[in-house]
Amino acid sequence: MSAKKTIVLAEVKNGELRNVSFEAIAAAKQLSNGGELVGVVAGESVQSLAGELFAYGVDRVIAVEDAQLKHYTTDAYKQAYLQVFDKEKPEVVVLGHTSIGKDVSPRLAVKLDAALISDVIALEGDEAPIMIRPIYSGKAFEKKQPAAEDGALIVTIRPNNIVAGEKDESATGEVEVMSVDITDLRAVVKEVVQKATGGVDLSEANVIVAGGRGVKSADGFKPLQELADVLGAAVGASRGACDAEYCDYSLQIGQTGKVVTPDLYFAIGLSGAIQHLAGMSNSKVIVAINKDPEAPIFEIADYGIVGDLFDIVPLLTEELKAV
Ligand code: FAD
Repeated sequence: MSAKKTIVLAEVKNGELRNVSFEAIAAAKQLSNGGELVGVVAGESVQSLAGELFAYGVDRVIAVEDAQLKHYTTDAYKQAYLQVFDKEKPEVVVLGHTSIGKDVSPRLAVKLDAALISDVIALEGDEAPIMIRPIYSGKAFEKKQPAAEDGALIVTIRPNNIVAGEKDESATGEVEVMSVDITDLRAVVKEVVQKATGGVDLSEANVIVAGGRGVKSADGFKPLQELADVLGAAVGASRGACDAEYCDYSLQIGQTGKVVTPDLYFAIGLSGAIQHLAGMSNSKVIVAINKDPEAPIFEIADYGIVGDLFDIVPLLTEELKAV
């Protein structure tokens, strides 16, 4: 495979580059086959933030700055990225399989007449790597390669699966600032009102403590939150817990919720319905706590504790505090 000029579309959240951007650079290195690697950050004042990409091994960095890129909107970002592509002529584009990546990548693929391979969790081989993606809610895996050597390729990668390269603080460079012409927006974001939840971002957390209907009430989540605090973990939930109004739907993990792949996943008081497994079965280590020894969650758990969560979770928290 020839060297391919590759662009990584980095993503900014709450004033920081998301980890998936660094993971995308690692994937892009494999796909570029030694071709030029360009990091792109779009936003309002993102020049200094964009410079961080050098530490992960990109050759050039472009900050696309415009007041209309302060918040993500499909139209504005699509227009901005297409203007970058027009100038840079990338052969490969890599971005995160986040809500933004899922929204913008098919639109970019149509405009570029590019192949799109989405939700990639691993790449095999250095020459023309094969991309692996889960299908049927994680029950099977598909291996894909673009059909033709020529023609552009867009790849989205699932957060927390591809390992980001080592950060090299000494690698720096000059960020090129590019202005774009954004017109005729059909929608603009006036203001983003964030819930004051704080804590760790569920979709990028290394450790998740998830509760199900077994927690029995909103108060029942308190011991799980305490365990999460000790571990620096994010709290998640099954749909059963969300439907019962024990917690907010933003915590839902599964087929119709968030897809997560932490290093460590606590499944507490949840049965392990197939729709829940679709969102978490790729977690590296799964610990299940359930009072029913026949609960299906034990079939995929690496460690299982049979017992009442209201006894076990506080004990676990105390033990971990002592470590
Ligand atoms: P339950 O199945 O009721 O399980 C509760 C568990 O808690 C039981 O195993 C019980 O033994 C245990 N328990 C009870 N008390 C205690 C205690 N004191 N100590 C320890 N254990 C205890 N679900 C999702 O999670 N995510 C999705 O994205 C999702 N999408 C769906 C999409 C569709 C189209 C459909 C049809 C369903 C979807 N569901 C989803 C719902 C899914 O089918 C299940 O209904 C749901 O996951 C069940 O939630 P649960 O495991 O919390 O509840």
